[in-house]
Amino acid sequence: MYPKKNKNKYFFSLLILVFICFFCACQSSQNSESISQKNQSNIIENIFQPTKNTPPTLWNYPQKDSVGYVFYLKKRYNAKNIAPIKAKELEKWSKELEKKYNISFKTHTYQKYFNIAYRCTDAQRNHLEYVSKVFFKDTYQKYFKYEPKNPFQIVYFANKDEFVKYTKSSAYGFYQPSTKTLFTYTGSGEGTLWHELMHAFVDTNIEHNIQQWFSEGLASFYEMGGISNDIFLEGYTNWRQPLLIKMLGKKNNLPLDIFLEEEEMSEDDAYAKARFLFCYLWINNKMISFVNAYLYELSAQYKGKELTKKTIDKIEKLLGKNLKTIEKEYNELAKKFIPYQKLQQIKN
Ligand SMILES: [Zn+2]
Repeated sequence: MYPKKNKNKYFFSLLILVFICFFCACQSSQNSESISQKNQSNIIENIFQPTKNTPPTLWNYPQKDSVGYVFYLKKRYNAKNIAPIKAKELEKWSKELEKKYNISFKTHTYQKYFNIAYRCTDAQRNHLEYVSKVFFKDTYQKYFKYEPKNPFQIVYFANKDEFVKYTKSSAYGFYQPSTKTLFTYTGSGEGTLWHELMHAFVDTNIEHNIQQWFSEGLASFYEMGGISNDIFLEGYTNWRQPLLIKMLGKKNNLPLDIFLEEEEMSEDDAYAKARFLFCYLWINNKMISFVNAYLYELSAQYKGKELTKKTIDKIEKLLGKNLKTIEKEYNELAKKFIPYQKLQQIKN
């Protein structure tokens, strides 16, 4: 599911627990930032001015810090003040979680934006930290323009039973925009974490709605990856590939232009179709340009049929061919690949 800034949709989403994740629909908390600069004694300087056409709550990523200063949540802090701020944040959050679930969590913060509340071992927590740090380092800046406007909160339950008991979800994990929190558990797999983190990254960057095929296509592209020498490796098919091949063989398979028009995907196993669109763009080395254009230009300005038309125009322009040809290539490539296959990227 993809994020809609609408509360009713969110509660509806809570009922649909069969998806790998749900991206619920809640009013995105407009960070009103009402505390005046003067009252923030620990803020040494705040020299930033929003660039033209940039909402004042968003700051370009990465903000450069001079020695001894750290940029965090729209402000620049003296580096020595960050630790107590994070400690306070964790204390407040863990109290909220304990009140909600009536169980205790250990908490930990890293890379200034990640806060985790966990019930696994410290070794498991360290692994979670490592795979999320590398993922952030190697993906965030490719697709996203802005500094996160909220910390990435991860609630990590000890095991599946505990996760199901407390979240009432049968998924591997989910991201909840209303609380800016990702919920998952030990053993749910790194792919789940990366999928849900991608939703969190999108959520902190845009305020408007996006179509589900985009949200889930991008997130599920990152369900499959690896890390070698501290580098995130991407560009693989996964377990969804046979589902896609089955879909493409069906008589009622939606053509690409109709698929791209849907706000929410109507076909069974549509995640597989959305995912492979991103694989196709990745193979053609156009995924970054497309994601940037869709997030910050197309979906920010257009809706409905107009958005679909602009999206198709963009895809055709980026690939230098019409949608019919693209669809033919997409179908042929989809049938060629087996699950968990490394894709080869065209260099251009
Ligand atoms: Zn998802």
